[in-house]
Amino acid sequence: MTLFEKIAAREIPAEILYEDERVIAFKDIDPQAPVHALIVPKQAIARIAEAKDSEGELLGHLLLRAKDLARKMGLAESGYRLVINNGSDGGESVPHLHCHILGGRALTWPPG
Ligand code: 5GP
Repeated sequence: MTLFEKIAAREIPAEILYEDERVIAFKDIDPQAPVHALIVPKQAIARIAEAKDSEGELLGHLLLRAKDLARKMGLAESGYRLVINNGSDGGESVPHLHCHILGGRALTWPPG
């Protein structure tokens, strides 16, 4: 099982913010902004580079629930950033596809 599958199975504790049959969202353990959550498909796709066309509906669902959660966390007016890191240069450290939801401060661009 991946780390995030263990969180979904409640084998590793996390502050869960949202869950349905296909995705789960929880607070990042090492927040990089005042609001930093991760939203993850329960079905473990390693990274976006491995995603299949048949998983398009799941990925669309992930983004739509990320948008809803950002609103629920109070970020709709101020803005926020959704980030998917892919591979070593992308900064991926957990090989289970996840989308970061970052907000609560002005985020710089370009990223580091
Ligand atoms: P990546 O670097 O792969 O894009 O993002 C992985 C994220 O997972 C990091 O922001 C890291 O802080 C977070 N993370 C790693 N281990 C845990 C954990 O055990 N619990 C939670 N809630 N987040 C974790």
